[in-house]
Amino acid sequence: MSSGTPRLSKSRFVAGLQCRKRLWLEVHRRDLAEEPGPATQRIFDSGHEVGELAQREFPGGVLIDTPHYEVERAICETEEAVAAGATILFEPAFMYDNILVRVDVLKKNDDGTWDLIEVKSTTKASDTHVADAAVQKYVLEGSGFTVRSVSIMHLNRECRYPDLSNLFIIESVDDRVREMWPELQPRVGEFSHLLLHDSAPDVPIGKHCTAPYSCPFINHCWAAVKHPSIFTIPRINKKSIDTLIGQGVTGIVDVPDTFPLSENQRRYVDLFKEGHTQIMWPAIRDAFAELEYPLYFLDFETQADPIPRHDGLRPYDQFPFQYSLHILHQDGTLEHTEYLHPNTTDPRRPLMESLIRNTGETGSIVAYNAPFEQRVIKDLARIFPEHRRRLHRFLPRFWDLLVIFRSYYVDPAFGGSNSIKKVLPVLVPELSYAALEVQSGDIAQLAWKEMIGTSDEAKRAELERSLKEYCKLDTLAMVELYRVLEENIPA
Ligand code: SF4
Repeated sequence: MSSGTPRLSKSRFVAGLQCRKRLWLEVHRRDLAEEPGPATQRIFDSGHEVGELAQREFPGGVLIDTPHYEVERAICETEEAVAAGATILFEPAFMYDNILVRVDVLKKNDDGTWDLIEVKSTTKASDTHVADAAVQKYVLEGSGFTVRSVSIMHLNRECRYPDLSNLFIIESVDDRVREMWPELQPRVGEFSHLLLHDSAPDVPIGKHCTAPYSCPFINHCWAAVKHPSIFTIPRINKKSIDTLIGQGVTGIVDVPDTFPLSENQRRYVDLFKEGHTQIMWPAIRDAFAELEYPLYFLDFETQADPIPRHDGLRPYDQFPFQYSLHILHQDGTLEHTEYLHPNTTDPRRPLMESLIRNTGETGSIVAYNAPFEQRVIKDLARIFPEHRRRLHRFLPRFWDLLVIFRSYYVDPAFGGSNSIKKVLPVLVPELSYAALEVQSGDIAQLAWKEMIGTSDEAKRAELERSLKEYCKLDTLAMVELYRVLEENIPA
């Protein structure tokens, strides 16, 4: 256990609302937490970028930029800035009832009251954000400030580049803070008391481990979970999960035969219990009969920035920066082509022109989760009306390989998933993502950002090679899965 009196903070308070055990672990056993993955890292990076831009909306603000671990100095500098008459403060620090908070933006009104503004890189104010802001109000008022209003400043989905004048919305959450206010002080007391215990509270795992945030202690708490787990049962609700966990059941194979499940869920559970692969060859044959050569196996990699940087994009609009295309002809010959945007300019036009050149007028376009690729095409058609008709002709040519593994081919060895990364090693063991440096779409996004931002040519070449390898494997995987299925369809 760490030494000293454990202190609460706004993030710890929010962690406690998700799970009391998480709060205890955050404070006393941080060593058990997983390092943030690429998706979490991207959220942190976005938060910093958005936070800095939000501060520009309040000219003349005083930044208390003392590091988070220098608590006393940050509080001291805040007091000095307030005493010196600062009316807008960024990151001021306050402590009350053993809770430390840093406020994103604090603005003084003419009547001496203060407006508290919490900046978020999301496009709406969630209940967690409101709880976060409510704790800050609690600490500020306890410190002698009168808080007139509490707002969440978040991104505006209606804002479109290049006009970023309406990038932010400042949404009042006073009513929502008022609703949770009676709960606040008892919670603070409960959490403070909990942190004095020398062991973590006994909280069973459940759906709360992944919502509203993926808990960093999943590896620790879920170590004994049997795989494939009950969490993969389609559309299973929280009550059923809690009941099963209460009975000590975490693996699908241990779900009692009498446990109430929907017909679909029961079929899924029985598949694992019986250990059989379920293959509906007639349905697969029918689906294959829809295919028309040449087959274009297509995969896009996309980026979604909180702050849009290209024409017509809104916060978090996805845009493609890379594609891979394998073309399989009826005689069995296979071609490969690709596009990876090389710099910080808008990738959409050159990518679209390359795609149009390479995707022909006839032949099925095979994707894994086709609605995603179709959405990218529709967005391109909207942005480039002169190519709309051509791009729209792609849409009915799509054929979704995921449908096969979602509905007609389920193998217990997929571990309850139909992701191509789980299906591929079972059906095509000689192909694998394991040796690649880029192994997921999240990592691809980070790698591309780094590639277009670096001036180190060697690094750039290495990232380019990794990105191309990854995207190429996505479409080659589809080709090989297609071939395995085709070879095995009974005559
Ligand atoms: S993994 Fe689940 S039970 Fe464990 S601390 Fe996190 S939220 Fe709580």
